[in-house]
Parts: sequence; structure tokens; C-alpha cells
Amino acid sequence: MSFVDYDREGAVAVLTIRNPPVNSLAVPVRMGLDAALDRALADDAARAVVLIGAGRTFVSGAEISEFGTPKARVEPLLTMIQRRIDAFPKLVVAAVHGTALGGGFELALACHARVAVADARFGLPEVNLGLMPGAGGGQRLLRLVGPALALELVTTGKSFSGEDGLRLGVIDALVDDLRAGAVRFAEEAVRTGRRFAPIMERGERLGEASPAMFAEFRARLAAKAPDRLAPFAIVDAIEAGCKLSGPEALVYEKQRSMELKETDQHRALKRAFFIERAARKIPDVPETTVPQPIRRVAVIGAGTMGSGIAMTFANAGLGVTLLDHSPEALARGRHAIEQTYARSVASGSITAAAMDTALELVRGTTDYDDLGDIDLAIEAVFERLDLKREVFARLDRATARHVILATNTSSLDIDALAAATSRPDKVVGTHFFAPAHKMKLLENVRGAKTSAETIATVMALGRTLGKATALARNCDGFIGNRMLQYYTGQAEFLLEQGATPEQVDRVAVAFGMPMGPFAMRDLTGIDVGVLVRQARRLTLASQERLSDIPERLFAAGRLGQKSGAGYYRYEGKAKFADPAALEIIAQVARERGIARRDFSDAEIRDRLFFPLVNEGAKLLEDGTALRAGDIDVVWINGYGFPAYRGGPMFWGELSGLAAVRDLARELADENGPRWGPSALLCELARKAPGEGRGWDDLPVTAPALARAG
Ligand code: NAD
Repeated sequence: MSFVDYDREGAVAVLTIRNPPVNSLAVPVRMGLDAALDRALADDAARAVVLIGAGRTFVSGAEISEFGTPKARVEPLLTMIQRRIDAFPKLVVAAVHGTALGGGFELALACHARVAVADARFGLPEVNLGLMPGAGGGQRLLRLVGPALALELVTTGKSFSGEDGLRLGVIDALVDDLRAGAVRFAEEAVRTGRRFAPIMERGERLGEASPAMFAEFRARLAAKAPDRLAPFAIVDAIEAGCKLSGPEALVYEKQRSMELKETDQHRALKRAFFIERAARKIPDVPETTVPQPIRRVAVIGAGTMGSGIAMTFANAGLGVTLLDHSPEALARGRHAIEQTYARSVASGSITAAAMDTALELVRGTTDYDDLGDIDLAIEAVFERLDLKREVFARLDRATARHVILATNTSSLDIDALAAATSRPDKVVGTHFFAPAHKMKLLENVRGAKTSAETIATVMALGRTLGKATALARNCDGFIGNRMLQYYTGQAEFLLEQGATPEQVDRVAVAFGMPMGPFAMRDLTGIDVGVLVRQARRLTLASQERLSDIPERLFAAGRLGQKSGAGYYRYEGKAKFADPAALEIIAQVARERGIARRDFSDAEIRDRLFFPLVNEGAKLLEDGTALRAGDIDVVWINGYGFPAYRGGPMFWGELSGLAAVRDLARELADENGPRWGPSALLCELARKAPGEGRGWDDLPVTAPALARAG
């Protein structure tokens, strides 16, 4: 079987790469390209070469299954093929459709010219795996688009279309009929004697660089995520590329890319890809279980979450019936949905036609009798058990027996809702995150009686909606929010003990969180937090405590951004440290007799994030979460935990589980026994580094402590 076909049209040899489905650059493709180039060289009638992909795409990238295996080193390597093309005596034109990402783009960039269809996609996404292009992608792109844009494109991994590529000077021509257009382009170039200088010899744009440009770019990166390695290495390489000779620049970029392959950040991001897939597998739900078909859904409650959930389904092309108890509430929800879509159209992220299609899919009602044609109902009314039970009982009466009844509750007991129906096997939690149409996580929750088919259906639903999906067992807060209370709780305790809101927020943001815990509280409303805490106080054992700071801010009328003051003072959206808030905090500490002291940033980081690891271990211990990877999926996709740190569990293991355990002991002394170390954590931490097994080695099915074995 040939992986690269050779045929000739007039004076043009056409090399067609054939490695379905995505024409990845596996060993036989690299060998095939080498042989086909030999043939083109020997073919006197061929005066130019076109490189094109068979099927739906050009070379979409490297062969992932070869990563880290000896195959990746089998010659010819991509860089050898590139060098050959660079020096090839006949014109070589890449003809691109579909996607040319990573190694695929690097191959196209080595060709003397590029033609593409308008909707082809180009990009260097290596940074998303903690890497950088290793086959000259950054250096070649730099020479085509100049340093400013190269910095932007390579450090973000953003892709761009053929049309954009033409504008940027990456693409030489756009064509409709790819093969015919590329052959014509090559013939024309041969006929007119048009010359294309090899990219690595083009230096015109390098002069656009200035030291200030790189300093500013590094400062921008440092403000967002100072510890990320790959973006800084990319800046170094682009800067070096503006000073070094072409061959030296390629060597430098290659060397830095090899270094990144050995980093924990690369391991974390690679693992993030695999844990998301693993999380879909549920040990007691056979893979042969057929999910129920979902054609139309009902969303009960048209508030913040209900309208976001309705958009999520409409965006996936499913019909939605949105039900609220009054026409006014329904109209508010409808209006919110329309506004959100209108903003997306205005910002250019969707077309007006896509908005119309989505809006047509959402229909509103106040009548349960209109739910005759649905397969799934998702309840998103106020967070009150009595109200939700009533809604479930009504849904049970109003819908066909096959209909799955799901709840978006953040914390209430799924079994108590199931008990309000005659179909507990069909009752399940589908916990979306705000804003539901944007956030990438669906945290499903199984009740005691949820059937395998229902679980399989809501797990498959995540895929339909394009969300990372994990399954939790029914408990207070499930995976995400049960852990969150330890993070926010510790943030408050740190204030009592002497840290300031700015310091804690700064450490959290530098760690990679999208926002600090106090900026977040001010945004969502301190009043909302106080309500949740009122409920929590009722369930807390007598020797446990919560800080009184939120309640005191609330009592002082400080509700957060909406009242102009919370942990900070606001002028519009700009926030400032506020001595009045600091005084309230100091007062709480005085009343409790808490000694105040200074904290280093590292101590704040550990006190904020180690408790997540400890509670995560307890979730594994009691079976709320199946795998450490599931916990990391929840935190990366639902809470903005930096993916390059791998999620709390992966990061905790890297930080040393013994340190996590020791701090847990300290925190238990300070704040109450629920902060104490998990038995599973202690068991794993007891082993010397290297000797013990990590989270990812724990069996998925065995109960509790037997797992540490
Ligand atoms: P919300 O107050 O914005 O909306 C609730 C909606 O339910 C309102 O439109 C209200 O009119 C409607 N409603 C009330 N009683 C009803 C009834 N009997 N029948 C039909 N509709 C009724 O609340 P929200 O923030 O959207 O939260 C909804 C649910 O989602 C809660 O369970 C909440 O815990 C959960 N949740 C919220 C968030 C969040 O960040 N807001 C995140 C995840 C989960």
C-alpha cells in the first residue's frame, strides 16, 4: 500500500498523501514523501511539485501514537524532509484543505509556496500541550508574518483560516478547486519563471523586532501566568530567531522544544487530554449500554442557569422547551437568551443566521402539558428542596415513562428528589457551571437508584454538548463544590490570620486561577455566599467553624461589586484595596483572639490549594469520585484550575503528598477535625518517593482504603 501517490499532470508532479483519516506524519508517510521526492527529481518532465492530502484534509499533524516511542525517531524525520524541500531544485507547492496544524503546518511552511481553500485551518497548537514547535514552525512563521504576530500566534496556539493566511502573507493564493488550482499555480510559476525565496532566507521582517517588544510581551505573560514554561520558551526562540542566522535559529528552537518535552507541565497537559477520555468510562456501566436517544429537552426554570442550559442545547442543535412558573419569568429568560446571542453576533463569534437557528429551537411555556414530546427534563429552579421535590413530582406526572428527570442542583440530595417520583432509576444530577453555554464542564451525579442506561445517557450527553464530563456519587456538594468550600474557607481563615485580600488573590492568580477567591466573591455577591453558608452552618459539627468575615461584610452593606464595596472598594469595575474592609477583618480576628502574622506567597499557595488535594483524597476514599483524573477534569473545566498544573490531584502529588498531609494536620488543629488528613492520603504519603504508587495507579473499582494496598 502506498502512503504517498505519485502522478503527473503536464509539467507538475502531484504527491498525494494518503494516511486516513487525518494524513498524520507517521513513519510510512515520511518514507513515502522521501521516495516521491526522489521520483520527482528524476522525472525530467516534472518541473514543479504539488503536495496535497487525500480525503478530507492536508497533513493535520504529527502521529500522536508515535510520541515518545522509537518510531518518532525513525528516519527520515520531518526536519530532514523539510531540509530536502528547502534545497529542492524544483518548485514545491503545498496545497492545503482541512487542517494543517503542528507538524502538518510545519511541512507546508517548508514548501516554497502555499495555496489553500478559504476555510482551511492553519496553526501551531503545541503550546496547548506545554510544548513549542520542534520542526521550525515558529522560525518559519516569524519570517513570514513578523515578530509581533508570530509571538501572538505561537504563544496562544490560535489557528487561522486560509483567507486570514492570504492576508497575513502565509498563503500565496486561495483556490476553489484545490488540486486543479494548485497545479495551475505551479504551472504558471514555472512558465513565468516566478521565484520563491526559501522562507529561512527571508529576513525582511526580522527588523521589525525591538527589545521593548519582547520585554512587553514577557510582562504580559507574567501578569497572566508567570510559571508557565512554554510561552516564555517560545518568546525566547522568536527573539533569538531575530538575531541568529537561519540554521542557528532552527537549532535553538529545536533544543528548547526538546527541553519542554521533559517538563511536568507537558506531562500535566498530555494527561489532561487522557483523563477527559477516561472519565467517560464507568466501571459498573458496561460499555455496551446504549444511551437513550435525546431529541428534545425541557429546561424547568428560565433563570441564570436555565437560560444558559437552554442555549447549550440549542447550540448543539437540539430542541428545547423552556418552562417557568410565570409568563414574566419566562419573558425574562427569553430576553436574556436573545441578549446573549445578540452580543455574540455583535462580537463576531457567531453569525446572525446561527443565532436565528438557535432561537428557533427554543420554545417557551408555563404549562407542563406542553412537555409531551421530550426525552429529558433538566430542572433549574431555586435551590430549595421542597420546591424541587414538587417540580419533580409534577414532571413525573406530566411526562412519558421513558423521560429522564435531571436536576441542576449544586448541592441537594439527588435521592430525595428521586423519592418524589415513581421513576428513581431515571433521576440523575446534571450539574452545569455558570455561564452554562460557555463553561466546559458537565458534572453528572448518580443517585442510589439511577440506572446504568440513565448514566450512560447523561455521560453521552456531555459529548453531544461538547463538554468534559465526570460522574460523581450523590453527596453534599458532589466533587467540585464539596472541595471548593475548603479552598474558599481557607481563604477566609488566611485573612483572619493576617493576609490581605489582595495578597491572597494575587497568589491565586499567579498560580493560574482566572480570578482570586475574593474578587470572585465580590463578583458573585457576598449576599449569595452568606445564604449558602447559612445552610452549611446548620450541617456543620459543633467543633467546626466558618469565618464570620462574609457575614460581617454583609451586615455592613458590603455585598460586593453590585453595592460598590465588598472585600474591595469599586469605582465602576476598577477595584481598590479598602481600609474599611481590612478593619472589619481585623475586628473579627480580635474578637476571636486570633494572632495575626505575615505569610509568604508560598505558604498562602499551599494553604489555599493543599486542602483541595486532601478533600479530593476523601472523595476517592468514600467513592464520591471514581478516579483522581475525574477530580482533575472537574477542576480544570469547571473551576479554572490551571490545566498546565494538571488539576489539584496531579499538582498535589508533584508537590509531595507528605507535605499535603502535614499541613492538613496543622489545619485540623487550627480549624477543626474536618480539615484533618484523609486516610488514603496518609497511606500514599507514607511511601518513599518513587516507591509508592500515585493516584493514577489506584484501582478504579475497589472500595476505599483497599485502594492504597
Ligand atoms: P435563578 O434564581 O436565576 O433562576 C431560577 C428560576 O426558576 C427563575 O426563573 C424562577 O422563576 C424559576 N422558578 C422558580 N420556581 C419555579 C417553579 N416552581 N417552576 C418553574 N420555574 C420556577 O437561579 P439559578 O442561579 O439559575 O439556579 C438554578 C439552579 O441551578 C439552582 O438549583 C442552583 O443551585 C443551580 N446552580 C446555580 C449555579 C449558578 O452559578 N447560579 C451554578 C450551578 C448550579
